[in-house]
Amino acid sequence: MSPKAIFFDRDDTLIKDKNYMYQIKDLEFVHDAIKTLKYLQEANYLLFIVTNQSGIGRGYFTEKDMHNFHQALLTELEKHQINIQEIAFCPHRPEDKCQCRKPSPLLINKLCEKYNIDKSLSYMVGDKKSDIEAGKNAGLKTIQIIDHDLAKLMKQL
Ligand SMILES: [Mg+2]
Ligand SMILES: [Zn+2]
Repeated sequence: MSPKAIFFDRDDTLIKDKNYMYQIKDLEFVHDAIKTLKYLQEANYLLFIVTNQSGIGRGYFTEKDMHNFHQALLTELEKHQINIQEIAFCPHRPEDKCQCRKPSPLLINKLCEKYNIDKSLSYMVGDKKSDIEAGKNAGLKTIQIIDHDLAKLMKQL
């Protein structure tokens, strides 16, 4: 049976956005992030993050900085036995007109293929219109998070 999945935006969805952040001291989960991720994992969703990180293309931080930051994020979640399968990112600026930046569904589609995800049971969750459009473009159900209210997923899913 194909697994179902939830694709999360990163900034202002799972963690608080502090503007082109890459320093580990700025890593702060939104309220209820741990609880919600744990709940979804126990409901047999595979968990992914799909994030636009144009700070790389703009030269504000390097890809290595981002990977270090992501490692800290994953390590923190592992302390709670939460496993994120993969973090997919677009490093480009909007003006680069790349193929991968959300609202493009490319990164989501690649993950769906790689993990044989059942799209009909899967969701894209994010705070921005571009997240919701990316999810729709990939053929997923979508849920928009407003004011860091991630816990609403525990009521809706
Ligand atoms: Mg966001
Ligand atoms: Zn891109």
